[in-house]
Amino acid sequence: MERYDIVIVGAGTAGMPCAIEAVATGARVLVVEAEPQVGGTLHVSLGQMSGAGSELQRAHGIADSAEAHLADIERINRGTGRREILEVTLPRQGATIDWLMENGFDMDPACPAILHLHEAYREARTYWGVEGGVSVLKVTRPLFEAAMTRPNAELRLSTRATGLRIEDGRVRGLTLEGPEGASEVRTGAVVLATGGYGGNAKLFARMTGGRALYTAAMPGSDGSGIEMAEAAGAGLRGQDLFLPTYAGIPHEAGGNRIVWRQMPSLTPQVRQPWELHLATDGARFVREDDPSVDNREHALNGLSDMAFWCVFDDAVLAEAPPLLPGWTEEELSEAWARRDDFVSAPDIATLAARTGMDPSILGQSLCTYNRAVADGGPDRMGRTHLPRAIRGPGLRAIRMRGMVLKTPAGIDVDETLTVRRADGTPIEGLHAVGEAIGGSTLSGRGFISGMSVTPALTLGRWLGQRLGVAAMETTAE
Ligand SMILES: Cc1cc2nc3c(=O)[nH]c(=O)nc-3n(C[C@H](O)[C@H](O)[C@H](O)COP(=O)(O)OP(=O)(O)OC[C@H]3O[C@@H](n4cnc5c(N)ncnc54)[C@H](O)[C@@H]3O)c2cc1C
Repeated sequence: MERYDIVIVGAGTAGMPCAIEAVATGARVLVVEAEPQVGGTLHVSLGQMSGAGSELQRAHGIADSAEAHLADIERINRGTGRREILEVTLPRQGATIDWLMENGFDMDPACPAILHLHEAYREARTYWGVEGGVSVLKVTRPLFEAAMTRPNAELRLSTRATGLRIEDGRVRGLTLEGPEGASEVRTGAVVLATGGYGGNAKLFARMTGGRALYTAAMPGSDGSGIEMAEAAGAGLRGQDLFLPTYAGIPHEAGGNRIVWRQMPSLTPQVRQPWELHLATDGARFVREDDPSVDNREHALNGLSDMAFWCVFDDAVLAEAPPLLPGWTEEELSEAWARRDDFVSAPDIATLAARTGMDPSILGQSLCTYNRAVADGGPDRMGRTHLPRAIRGPGLRAIRMRGMVLKTPAGIDVDETLTVRRADGTPIEGLHAVGEAIGGSTLSGRGFISGMSVTPALTLGRWLGQRLGVAAMETTAE
């Protein structure tokens, strides 16, 4: 049976940098990737990153520190992330940005910036490439491919890890399923860099109290690494820290996949709302122009179905900046003509009948809002942007959903990224990094700008280097 020092499962955002560093130490490394191509979620991710103390910040005269970054994160998520792991990644994230730049990263000239897609930092420490996640991939993939040409490295594509071999309390190997069938390899260390479970509705429901999944994650984010670790006795954490992203519309009526291009423009700092957001019974639940996306996400999380109707009328449609700027004319006319989540109606009673909203609650929501518009506001939710009444003729509603970009729960690890059993004891030789450790481990119950991609790169590199050095020391002994 073949033997490796380190087996890295998943050649995505975290797995590739992990492999690059592990191979550089001289350790014998195998990388297995379920898909026929490498890159994982970087193919669809916006690739926004964050890091304090980068050369780019210095060049812009921005004095920033890992401590300030940590304080900002804990302000936003109310201290619900894991500080002991944040303290490993944050002091290294500025260097990750520098490393990307040294290797030809195509940085957007607007960076570093303060962004409002997620709750805003107080300092300009968010960065992104001109092609989003693909810009990151354009740096990591060539470095990874070069590493894989080394004699101490091997890559198996279209090969899925299916189980872990644990003997005497530590990892000894794993089972694989590839083009040549099932096989087994021996190793002293396994890194689960398998990503999240935003492509697996069943696992999402189990991890999130039975909630339905609406997702922009890749189908390959199936949580198989998390399930594999769980079967080997690993503890899981973060099941109580879900927060939806506000908000998406499925690409197909009745489907659950959301395409980022088709995201509605709901960030007030980008486009102020002209519409009302009503729970599925017709009641107000949120201040649509709340500058805090965190507040809006928590309000949405309070709805058991995480669904709402975005209600407006023909006059708003004609006057307001586009609500769905990424949809083509053809897609929009098709949606209004055929989809049951794009509803138009001549009056309140018909709109209620077609959407399932309660006619009296819907009528009350519109009436109260329209009165606030006439009075000059703010309305009873505290909304101050009240551009015009919504009273028809021609009422419209689009159903929107709280959605998933990254999944909160994952494999419990200690601050060395060693996997722990449910009783807190380590499973020697078993490690996890990236979204497999749960998005909430670093972000808590919140969305923190750049705090998935950057830690995946940073901790991936850090772990690969440490495991490689340890393996080489063992060999030398
Ligand atoms: C639309 C979208 C936008 C996003 N935007 C941002 C953003 O701007 N900033 C940010 O910080 N985060 C963002 N995220 C989240 C972030 O991109 C991910 O959390 C991160 O890329 C995950 O990295 P990873 O290495 O953990 O997993 P991935 O990059 O998903 O890699 C996992 C790899 O493991 C492979 N794999 C899985 N199971 C197995 C198995 N059993 N055997 C072998 N291989 C396996 C998969 O095929 C995949 O290649 C976004 C996510 C989405 C969906």
